[in-house]
Amino acid sequence: MKKEKLEYFRQLLLKEKKRIIEKIEKLKKGDIYVDKDETKDVVDAAADEIDKAFIMRIRDREMKLLNKIEESLKKIDNGTYGICEECGCEIEEKRLEARPVATLCISCKEEQEELEKKNKH
Ligand SMILES: [Zn+2]
Repeated sequence: MKKEKLEYFRQLLLKEKKRIIEKIEKLKKGDIYVDKDETKDVVDAAADEIDKAFIMRIRDREMKLLNKIEESLKKIDNGTYGICEECGCEIEEKRLEARPVATLCISCKEEQEELEKKNKH
């Protein structure tokens, strides 16, 4: 990947990191900070019934994402960013634009999802 492109993704990741850290801070302070988009993925929690468990779940998810961002930033530094961890090919830039923390190319990702589906049954 070109240097300029890498720098572009680094900025994207840093911006995302900052957003997540601020959010986690707010959650820690107990400010209920949940936007409508997030209440949508929770099946039966009405907006006014947001409980601690729900906040914890969001925090957990944000922490995981934060780890992924850290890993991606490390990869930019050591020159392995944008390379699929499974097959070693380059991950499509469009995919990285949509999901800068992606570590698998589309075909490997699809394969993984297939496997996960099978394992659930
Ligand atoms: Zn791959």
